[in-house]
Amino acid sequence: MRSLSGHERAELLEKAALKCDEATEYLAGIVVAEQGKTITEARGEAGRLGSLLRYCAGEARRIEGEVLPLDGSPGGEGRLGFTLRQPAGVVAAITPFNYPLLLVAHKVGPALAAGNPVIVKPASYTPLSAFAFMRLLLDVGFPEGAVQCIAGAGGVVGAGLCADERVRVVSFTGSAEVGRGITRIAGVKRLLLELGANCPVVVLPDADLDLAASVTAKAGTVNAGQVCISAQRVLVDRRSYPDFLNTLGEHFSRIRAGDPSDENTEMGPMISPAEADRVRDVIAQAETMGAKVVVGGEVNGSLHQATVVADVPENTTLFSDELFGPAVGVVPVDSVEEAISLCNRTSYGLGAGVFTRDIATAVRFARQVDAGNVHINWGPLWRVDPMPYGGLKGSGIGKEGPKYAIEEMTESKTVVIHTG
Ligand code: NAD
Repeated sequence: MRSLSGHERAELLEKAALKCDEATEYLAGIVVAEQGKTITEARGEAGRLGSLLRYCAGEARRIEGEVLPLDGSPGGEGRLGFTLRQPAGVVAAITPFNYPLLLVAHKVGPALAAGNPVIVKPASYTPLSAFAFMRLLLDVGFPEGAVQCIAGAGGVVGAGLCADERVRVVSFTGSAEVGRGITRIAGVKRLLLELGANCPVVVLPDADLDLAASVTAKAGTVNAGQVCISAQRVLVDRRSYPDFLNTLGEHFSRIRAGDPSDENTEMGPMISPAEADRVRDVIAQAETMGAKVVVGGEVNGSLHQATVVADVPENTTLFSDELFGPAVGVVPVDSVEEAISLCNRTSYGLGAGVFTRDIATAVRFARQVDAGNVHINWGPLWRVDPMPYGGLKGSGIGKEGPKYAIEEMTESKTVVIHTG
């Protein structure tokens, strides 16, 4: 991989992009079958691979260093200094089940663009999506061994890769608990950790309430809520609280849940019955502490209905931990200060959204809320692939997005030419 030039890596990625475009429907079918998101969402996910790989190809052509102003320091005169960015080495890409194509591509594309070989360890629930995608990459002619995919138990294959000294970068997306475990075994190597979240949405009295309700309903239920940037806590100014709750409830009750391969289904099942039961238990705990289920709550196998829970107290799991399911907890607030303070009252910091027409409040929110991605007049669930994307606090270390992941997957070398 290291001997391929930037344009050769770019051309291989462009060929792979074309193959992904052609295989969109095939890949989407595999995602529906093994992960359970709706066919519409799966097409959306599979359809992003081609353009993502093209962004990676673009970045492969312009990996650059800098010229160093050595003469800024006494003794530096007459020398020429510059940095070279070089591939870091073998990248272990460990991925979760919820976006089994896209999150693999967000690691593999930048790794190859940077000139690294990459070994993917897909989630145990969703290896087939990763294998199908990796097959397309093998077919375009990357050097032998540059693209590998090994399925197996996370605690065995994943942990083995993380601890191996030949691996130079671990790019991990998954739960905070597993992420913390990786920091303990990885040794001296680069770590890119995209972990869990508990994303807030704030609705202030001057907000467009209809927009806020429809965006929140989507942001809480896409992929049955199994998205790291799902809306989980909805903090609503007390004056708008009853109206907003009504409108939000109407949106949630209209969501058609069911068979993910049916074109009319709007929300599919969760990844397993055990996960649906876990979400039900989290909601039941909130109810015992005073919260009220306004819409939904029913569970049938893996299918958990889209659920709105009102008046969620702070000392509940639903308020403070990651839910990763199709429910939102709504909480009244009395001021912007209180909303910002509640947003930050979690160990996570991945995404946040605020609905307000006041620019000063929006800027204040952007500055004071501890989240890697802050959205003004939208919910936390929004991403385009080129943008820098990653969490603060317990949500992780480092950024994805082709340009930013390539920075994480290359190393800088300082070269000084002494001219006599
Ligand atoms: P998970 O942590 O259970 O598994 C993720 C991957 O890690 C899987 O491939 C698994 O096999 C592997 N793994 C398990 N134990 C391991 C170990 N000891 N060492 C190394 N690897 C190990 O996560 P999941 O249930 O598949 O996915 C859901 C989680 O992922 C949620 O917490 C969600 O927020 C998070 N997520 C984060 C982002 C982000 O961008 N921040 C994106 C998607 C999902």
